Amino acid sequence: MARASVLPGERPAWWLEDADDGERSAPLAADLEVDVAIVGGGFTGLWTALALRAGDDALRVALLEAEFCGWGPSGRNGGFCHGYWSYLPTLRELFGDTAALELCRAGDRIVPGIREFLAARGEDAWLREGGMLQVSATPSQDAVVNGHVTAASDVGHPAEAVLRERPGISPRFRRGVFYRDGATVHPARLVRALRRAALADGVELYEGTRARLRPDGTLDAGGRTVHARDVVVATNAAAAEWRPVRGRLTVFGSYVVLTEPVPDVLAEIGWTGGEGIYDSRMFLHYFRTTEDGRVLMGSGSGPIGRGARIDRRFTHDAPTAARAEEGLRRLLPALAEARVESAWGGPIDVSADHVPFIGTVPGTRLRYALGFSGHGVGPSWLAGRVLASLVRGLDDEWTRLPLVDRRVATVPREPFRHLGGAAIRAAILALEEAEEHGRRPPRAAQAVAAVPRLLGIRLGQR
Ligand SMILES: Cc1cc2nc3c(=O)[nH]c(=O)nc-3n(C[C@H](O)[C@H](O)[C@H](O)COP(=O)(O)OP(=O)(O)OC[C@H]3O[C@@H](n4cnc5c(N)ncnc54)[C@H](O)[C@@H]3O)c2cc1C
Repeated sequence: MARASVLPGERPAWWLEDADDGERSAPLAADLEVDVAIVGGGFTGLWTALALRAGDDALRVALLEAEFCGWGPSGRNGGFCHGYWSYLPTLRELFGDTAALELCRAGDRIVPGIREFLAARGEDAWLREGGMLQVSATPSQDAVVNGHVTAASDVGHPAEAVLRERPGISPRFRRGVFYRDGATVHPARLVRALRRAALADGVELYEGTRARLRPDGTLDAGGRTVHARDVVVATNAAAAEWRPVRGRLTVFGSYVVLTEPVPDVLAEIGWTGGEGIYDSRMFLHYFRTTEDGRVLMGSGSGPIGRGARIDRRFTHDAPTAARAEEGLRRLLPALAEARVESAWGGPIDVSADHVPFIGTVPGTRLRYALGFSGHGVGPSWLAGRVLASLVRGLDDEWTRLPLVDRRVATVPREPFRHLGGAAIRAAILALEEAEEHGRRPPRAAQAVAAVPRLLGIRLGQR
């Protein structure tokens, strides 16, 4: 196994180093009574807060964030921002064609929504609407690409997933499917822009304030009590063991490496359109360029967590950073010599079918949006609208989306989730790596890797 040139966890994510303005709100210092309390200051919490305050100046909205806004994955992800066309085969299976299309159409509003937000606030989050290319890098990945092209054509929308034979950029790419609804952003710039907007719009923000739900429905927020008519849980992976959703999330690590600026290499290989690219593995590689000519390469093959514990396995796992770097050198041979300057990781909240679920805990006014499964940058914009409508008690275009109050398959309880998941993850990784290096896959790994399909569970990111 190759070694990582830069160890993850030594420094904050490069995005945050670049964009964190260092502004922090004071922690909650007295008991509080508000209309809505939102727990979690990532994209989901912030979009929800903004949607709630829009047009309702009288509504008191407090946002409680344990660290600071953008500290979580929202400030350190890959920045792929897209709707739902790339999920079409899964959505058809889960919801049927009509509802799947409804969700795709709602997803079409995400990138324009973010563009309008940035323009209205005079913010620059490096939004680049270059589309997204899913490639196959091995013979078995060809079928995945084909399946996406066929699905879009079957539902009468062939322009949403267009086949590209030999798409260029790398000799490793056998074929690809191009989704025009994809974009990339600088995630930390976006999350910090959202924070500024939330403050400007009158959201009461308390950072450095960890909140915990009490059985009586109030919140313990850093030792103070928050009374709120509605509570929105927007804590991502930290909610994995929260009783109402327990058994519906598995936490995995995702890691990225970032190169030095290499604009000349990008020009040489013809990767100048800003398209985000990912391969068709289960533990996928995702890669993109930045406005200053760097390449970010991510690997969704990080370790599986134990329950909801967010520990060093999500920030310091050198083997996963090494896999991301190995993917960079192999999938983009022109970057074989590019210096890796930064590496970092974070947890992702994976649902059994990899599709998020949004809802209300029955009999309460507790709302949540979870299970983004490593694809929350765009979908959290939708989730913000849905959560705001749920809080307002509306029955509208947002609350009728098939993500809302849906049945989600369960994953095994701990410790079986961790033990079984770790064994299966290792088997799938062994299979995928054997195929990439032209080796015969180990038989035992083949048998173990088949288990999740039999149980109707997907691991990895797709
Ligand atoms: C390395 C990596 C790469 C990724 N790449 C992509 C990508 O390219 N595209 C994509 O779409 N998605 C990607 N994702 C996933 C994406 O980042 C998430 O889906 C998205 O940011 C989720 O936003 P969120 O607001 O729900 O959660 P978060 O950003 O995790 O925010 C939750 C917040 O809640 C806070 N919190 C937790 N518990 C408490 C508590 N008890 N009290 C108060 N606050 C609390 C945390 O501090 C955190 O700030 C990636 C994730 C990782 C880790």
